[in-house]
Amino acid sequence: MEHQGILVVVSGFSGAGKGTLMKELLKRYDNYALSVSATTRQPREGEKDGEAYFFVSKEQFQQMIEEHKLVEYAQYVNHYYGTPKEYVQQKMAEGKDVILEIEIQGALKVKKRFPEALLLFVTPPSAEELRRRLIGRGTETIEVINARLLRAAEEASGMEAYDYLLINDDIDRCVEEMHQLIKLQHRRTAYHLDFLSRMRDELCHLDENNK
Ligand code: 5GP
Repeated sequence: MEHQGILVVVSGFSGAGKGTLMKELLKRYDNYALSVSATTRQPREGEKDGEAYFFVSKEQFQQMIEEHKLVEYAQYVNHYYGTPKEYVQQKMAEGKDVILEIEIQGALKVKKRFPEALLLFVTPPSAEELRRRLIGRGTETIEVINARLLRAAEEASGMEAYDYLLINDDIDRCVEEMHQLIKLQHRRTAYHLDFLSRMRDELCHLDENNK
């Protein structure tokens, strides 16, 4: 159990800077593996299949659901997104901390299935800053930006379900905070049940030997 990696869910409003945050975290530390999701949305410019996402058709996605190949899935602004199970299981077994960068519905499903997972929510310092970043990114039409802002307002009501809030106003500080929180999560008793029971056992025997 000590060497098994943990599951870290990172959510946040579209435009909160999660992508940059993940990239920086993976660059600095080698104990992380970023899960690549499957999606039915179209690739954005520069997004490669198998890197940003596995871009699949609705039928292929449906099949993955039926064959229980996803840890979780959800619909987000007219498209499906899901986490392939195999990669997550394999990397955790290798001792890597696996990061799922997913939206809130999926995050809540993960928490239900894996209560010991760490849930982090990333937000910019203000709503106005969020709008500025989404427009500045220039990858979506104004309709899509508005739909994403609407979705952000919905997601904002679920922020309390997360374990920690990361305010992304300084990428450097945010990356370090995230790394520290994950390190701390490793010390949670839930990850050391074998140790706890061995310790209890040993203490019992010490007690017996002293009689
Ligand atoms: P985007 O289209 O901007 O890449 O992603 C839209 C939203 O879908 C983001 O909030 C992203 O975190 C979320 N997302 C990406 N992959 C998954 C996934 O596998 N499952 C779920 N539930 N959400 C995902």
